[in-house]
Amino acid sequence: MNYSSAFIPTLREVPADAVIASHRLMFRSGLLRKLANGLFAYLPLGLRSFRKVEQIVREEMNATGALEIKPSVVVPGELWKESGRWDSMGESLLRLKNRLNNDFVVSPTAEEAFTAIVRDELSSYRQLPLALYQINTKFRDEIRPRYGVMRGREFTMKDAYSWHTDDKSLDGTYQAMGRAYRRIFKRCGLSVIPVRADSGAMGGSGSEEFMVESEVGDNTLLLCKSCEYAANVEKASCTPDFQVRPSIETARAAAANTPACKKIETPNVKTINDLCAFLKTEPKAFIKTLVYRAVNVELDLSSAPGCSKLERKKISADAPSVYSEAFFAVAIRGDLDVNEVKLAAVLKASEVSLAPDTDVVRLTGAPVGFAGPVGLSFLPIIIDHTVTGMEDAVTGALEKDLHYEHAAYGRDFEAWMIEDVRTVKAGDRCPLCGGELYTKMGNELGHIFKLGYKYTRSMNVTYLDENGKTQMPVMGCYGIGVDRTLASVIEEHHDEAGIIWPASVAPYHVIIIPIKYNNEVKTAADNLAAELTKAGIEVLLDDRNERPGVKFNDADLTGIPWRVVIGDKGLAQPNPQVEIKRRSEKENLMIDTDKAAALLAQKIREELAALNS
Ligand code: ATP
Ligand code: MG
Repeated sequence: MNYSSAFIPTLREVPADAVIASHRLMFRSGLLRKLANGLFAYLPLGLRSFRKVEQIVREEMNATGALEIKPSVVVPGELWKESGRWDSMGESLLRLKNRLNNDFVVSPTAEEAFTAIVRDELSSYRQLPLALYQINTKFRDEIRPRYGVMRGREFTMKDAYSWHTDDKSLDGTYQAMGRAYRRIFKRCGLSVIPVRADSGAMGGSGSEEFMVESEVGDNTLLLCKSCEYAANVEKASCTPDFQVRPSIETARAAAANTPACKKIETPNVKTINDLCAFLKTEPKAFIKTLVYRAVNVELDLSSAPGCSKLERKKISADAPSVYSEAFFAVAIRGDLDVNEVKLAAVLKASEVSLAPDTDVVRLTGAPVGFAGPVGLSFLPIIIDHTVTGMEDAVTGALEKDLHYEHAAYGRDFEAWMIEDVRTVKAGDRCPLCGGELYTKMGNELGHIFKLGYKYTRSMNVTYLDENGKTQMPVMGCYGIGVDRTLASVIEEHHDEAGIIWPASVAPYHVIIIPIKYNNEVKTAADNLAAELTKAGIEVLLDDRNERPGVKFNDADLTGIPWRVVIGDKGLAQPNPQVEIKRRSEKENLMIDTDKAAALLAQKIREELAALNS
């Protein structure tokens, strides 16, 4: 391809809203342009790299045995009503109506569409396991699209879904997908950190996210200094730094030597810090009690305090009923924070958030800041494990300006549930080996997930087993953001001057720069380009009538892995020579013109082989 006809509009200036390297470089090197906030156009050079990432993903998906299909991006709203996500998905779901007033959804993900396709075709266990995927457009009306294609509104996702007769079969595909993801990111030249992730209301251990380290990452990762443990903070747990009381009897026994729980006056004290100053003690001595509002709770609350009158709603014809809204008190040691994602998983809720002040006052009978588990009878109390180890605590007394001291779990209050809901922090101890945990910020490139029966149940998917009995398949889903993967490659591979593409996703392998594109130089450049092309190497020939400095800058900016400079001087040598330079290295090399093509082809094949190994 000749540069002059390749439509590569490079920019010297940096776009004002571009704060990360990949965003700046995708614009500056002419890969991408913006149509609106979160909406982009890949230009020819960008599309070449984009297609290479897609192709790597496709090859590795095919290697797992998954089959590619291509459903429409706009899908009937009915399917989303069946699954319950028409209501639960919130504002990021783009809903639309056609001229007949029918509801549609622009797919932000495609569990519903794939499940509907399989539902219509599945009849026998012999058809399972089945794994289908697409590499297709998604739309999410993100509140804050940013960092270019890292978080766009429209983007391309590879999403795969699988259906199985049992958990063992699901686990086999889940593990195969995990291996495929590791290969995909390696082939793209990316260093990823696989982490344990929240598996939401489905529970279980079946969720892994593939993260790249990033200063602007949205995820906090907890990693162990001594072993392989890595988890998203949403999932991370730690070795207890407190006395665990496995049963209420042990807790009661521990409280036997604690003085009786009694009220103390704490005038004008609202926060834990105020209390610490007032009582001259540490946050660790307090039980912090917070009231949460949870939405779409899939637990049986009929015997939970304060919940017996809650109304259940049917989310779909076949799904069990859920509570659209319920309130809970969560008690945790005063120096710790509640992790809302863990709490949502415990409650099997689609969303949890701190209750509005008016609800706190209504449900605790006390002003905000005085909630506590002792005597709290109108709310189910969930205590974090830490609280089971506290036999002499200070906590709110459900009255203005009053607290309890010497409060003990088991003796002075009980719990409806005891769970791990603490937010793990740097310095906490690894749950596997006890080593020290530290944090990194990360960006999610991919996610594999055991979905369980969520969609097959709500959308009523069945098959007949060996005995002719009706069964429901168990499901998994597996996503990778193609655009985000591409942007992450640039994040990991660039310098001051521009991108440094790994050969596997470079738009071209070699850029040939004739100092002046005429006479013998032109002939030598054309011949080399032809020879390389014949060898399967992708070549960009800078035929522009520009100063060499301009061409060199653009070559560095666009990051083509190998540069060949051809000039009169080199060609005038007894053995005509050209200059070869690798984008990632400083030194260049003069080589005989007739050996250049073979050497470049060999170097590129070596790099590709190393990435693919
Ligand atoms: P995030 O937490 O970053 O919003 P997610 O967990 O909602 O992502 P998934 O539903 O797991 O994303 O989607 C699978 C993949 O799609 C993600 O791992 C990511 O690579 C990509 N992706 C998700 N949202 C976007 C977006 N707005 N722009 C670009 N890629 C995205
Ligand atoms: Mg995810």
